[in-house]
Amino acid sequence: MNDTAAHPLKLFNSLTRQMEEFVPVHPGEARVYTCGPTVYNYQHIGNMRAYIFADLLGRTLSWKGYRLTHIINITDVGHLTSDADAGDDKMEKAAAQSGKSAWDIAKYYTDAYWLDIDRLNIRQPAKWAIATDHVEEMIAFAESIADKHCYELESGLYFDVSTVPDYGRLSGAQSDDIEGRIEAVEGKRHPQDFAIWRKTPAGETRQMEWDSPWGKGAPGWHLECSQMSHKYLGEQFDIHTGGIDHREIHHPNEIAQNQAHNCSEHSGANIWMHNNFLIDRAGKMSKSSGDFLRLQVLVDRGIHPLAYRLMCLQAHYRSELEFTWENLVAALTRLKRIVMGVERLLEKADGQTAPIDHPALLQLRDRFDAALSEDLNSSKGLPLLEELLGLKKLPAGQRRALLSEMDSVLGLQLASLTRKQLRVRPAGAEIDEAAIEAKLDQRQQAKAEKDFATADAIRDELTAKNVELMDGDPLRWDWTIEI
Ligand code: AMP
Ligand code: ZN
Repeated sequence: MNDTAAHPLKLFNSLTRQMEEFVPVHPGEARVYTCGPTVYNYQHIGNMRAYIFADLLGRTLSWKGYRLTHIINITDVGHLTSDADAGDDKMEKAAAQSGKSAWDIAKYYTDAYWLDIDRLNIRQPAKWAIATDHVEEMIAFAESIADKHCYELESGLYFDVSTVPDYGRLSGAQSDDIEGRIEAVEGKRHPQDFAIWRKTPAGETRQMEWDSPWGKGAPGWHLECSQMSHKYLGEQFDIHTGGIDHREIHHPNEIAQNQAHNCSEHSGANIWMHNNFLIDRAGKMSKSSGDFLRLQVLVDRGIHPLAYRLMCLQAHYRSELEFTWENLVAALTRLKRIVMGVERLLEKADGQTAPIDHPALLQLRDRFDAALSEDLNSSKGLPLLEELLGLKKLPAGQRRALLSEMDSVLGLQLASLTRKQLRVRPAGAEIDEAAIEAKLDQRQQAKAEKDFATADAIRDELTAKNVELMDGDPLRWDWTIEI
């Protein structure tokens, strides 16, 4: 981006509960850590909202000229079925239920997650930090804070939250809700104290366990993120992201460990950002609900993954977003319109791009920059992209250049996405593309012969199979999506 026109980037910091101008720790750089998936199951589309948000942040930072280092972790050990210290390890539990090894489960769901990352056009981070690759370093991290900040119980090494200043500043006052999420562990000094090392109970063996000064066991989930963010981004880095549920337990615990480890009151990251939840009133977001809402479920209905990305971008990341099939299909329709506009523009530009100097386009870019610089307001940025597509009289090469800038932020893959690719075959379709095309040729023939009865019969037959005919459209037909 031409930085003479740049608006300062303002981001909402959950720690101070206000908008703050982004001032990097290292000039010209942006170092971001994102809490990633626990790979005991597929991620649901709500989880994927968290990464679409982190990707929007990363893309905005890159567009604004910062050299981005983005780390996303993979939690393949340590996350219990509750966010605090109760329940089983999610990985061990999934292994016991499926009869597969915890390592195989981790690999399978990590691969499935990466596929979804790719399908949503989320950029690759500088590194996927995998928790089990860092256990030795986590033990060293824990050792460095154990004497001053921890105490040992039969079940593990616990962090004493009274040893750091301001514990829980991020979550604000301790609400009943948070208390409810922390179960009592015999011998804990304070309810908020948490395990940084969990010992394997006597007489048991775990699939994932390591030797440590506190006996065989596994690292606590919070320890993972403190250690890996510190390793890859430094003692004080720029931005830490996660879903809003992490504001109450996981992130306050990370902050406490960072403070202890760094012997500083600083929380580790300057800005803590949290995306709000995707809500599904039908209850299909819960992973215990069997056929829960994951990206493949949308694709099976005939919805292109990028329609889901667009649906997320239509809302501000700090707003709750309600999932309905109607909203999703509306987003798909909007994406189809955008792609048709882009196809026309690309045709007109005929491979050319030109530096933007037209005043109307400079002004449009400035408005786009203002929207995204105001805490990543993509919902305001999207209509500006549509406005650009409507400015048909302005030079196509310059419009193409601006389109490419806008899409480098929104990530809708507009340089290559085609209207045809958005026509996703539903899993339950009774007919395939070749058969549809053959029917359409027959219909054309019938029409040419003025045999309208046959032409109508073919139309009806295809309609019954959820195929909508679009006479006069070069695409000829599309799937009707049942919702
Ligand atoms: P997990 O795999 O449970 O560790 O969660 C991965 C990410 O998804 C975390 O950043 C969570 O805060 C986030 N998350 C969980 N549920 C939702 C939801 N319904 N909407 C948006 N983000 C969510
Ligand atoms: Zn984390």
